[in-house]
Amino acid sequence: MFPDDSVHLVDDVNAMIRPQTCPICEKELAADAGLNSPLFPFCSQRCKDVDLYRWGEGKYQIVEPLKPEHLQNPDVDLPEELEELL
Ligand SMILES: [Zn+2]
Repeated sequence: MFPDDSVHLVDDVNAMIRPQTCPICEKELAADAGLNSPLFPFCSQRCKDVDLYRWGEGKYQIVEPLKPEHLQNPDVDLPEELEELL
């Protein structure tokens, strides 16, 4: 084994323990955040909700045909809190 190999090994370990960042706001997650957290990989319930909304929006366009009630009420079910974030 070459000396260089052990250096790369250390780099890999450091990469694995680097703090995760929230995919929505890119804030660093708490050190103890992990797969056991109900919010993982998000930093907060707000960011989780934003992600959920984005997925739901995409699904509507692809899977679900437009219904009359959507045209009458396009903003139904969208909390003001989320509108501010998007
Ligand atoms: Zn976040």
